[in-house]
Amino acid sequence: MNDCIFCKIRDQEIPSYKVYEDEKVYAFLDMTQVTKGHTLVIPKKHVSDIFEFNEQLAADLFTRIPKVSQALQTAFPEMQGINIINNNKEIAYQSVFHSHVHLIPRYGKEDDFS
Ligand code: ADP
Repeated sequence: MNDCIFCKIRDQEIPSYKVYEDEKVYAFLDMTQVTKGHTLVIPKKHVSDIFEFNEQLAADLFTRIPKVSQALQTAFPEMQGINIINNNKEIAYQSVFHSHVHLIPRYGKEDDFS
């Protein structure tokens, strides 16, 4: 039995706001919007963290990051930059153990977060 919440989002058993999808990745809005448009990009294949990646899976996930970032820039033209974050293991603040990349648009000094 697979209790992974992001697998359930990928399979649309749990609702999400889809930003992008292709055969390798699924991207959706984070339920906690650190800033407007905060998006998570996940590999469709379940892997817990970066330590389980091989080169192919890394290529599948990380080559999509510019495309999704650019889509966010198109959707939010007032965006001035973006933080791209990937937490691995509890010690590094990972809380959902299906690997994912955070895309956090930045709009100005007032949206600083820690
Ligand atoms: P952290 O909680 O420290 O950011 P992660 O890097 O593992 O740890 O990020 C998990 C992210 O998943 C969190 O930003 C959280 O808001 C998000 N999240 C958890 N459940 C859902 C959900 N059902 N839909 C959208 N985002 C979710």
